[in-house]
Amino acid sequence: MGHDGPAALTGRCYCGAVTLKMTAPPKIVAYCHCADCRRWTGGPVGAFASFAEADVAATPPLGQPFSSVPGVERWTCRDCGSPLAARFDYTPGQVFVPVGILDQADRLAPDLHCHAGERLPWLHIADDLPREHASGRASLNAAQDSRP
Ligand SMILES: [Zn+2]
Ligand SMILES: [Zn+2]
Repeated sequence: MGHDGPAALTGRCYCGAVTLKMTAPPKIVAYCHCADCRRWTGGPVGAFASFAEADVAATPPLGQPFSSVPGVERWTCRDCGSPLAARFDYTPGQVFVPVGILDQADRLAPDLHCHAGERLPWLHIADDLPREHASGRASLNAAQDSRP
């Protein structure tokens, strides 16, 4: 795993009020098929790049997260509602940024599928990536721990 390339990744919300800058590449990029991410992103599947918390800078700062599920924190743009970042208690130290708001999304091909057991039955993604039936937290934490 690991995503090399130009270190600085950038992103922004739909309206542009919030910009993100990541000073190191993501450790792992994952689809998440869980119903919670689906509802939050509005898409049939979420795709997130995982960064170390210290490597993500938001302008203005993200502020207070919203949480509708214990152990999950999510940040959105207060002006346009665009998803910006999420944090999960079971992946400490990691911030998950939706790939779709990143300017370099074309370079951020996912490494695995999480919560494949919740995949929408009509969604078929033809790849050979690992499929974690549940959260895939062991793989996500292993990728984070391997950071240099
Ligand atoms: Zn916005
Ligand atoms: Zn999810």
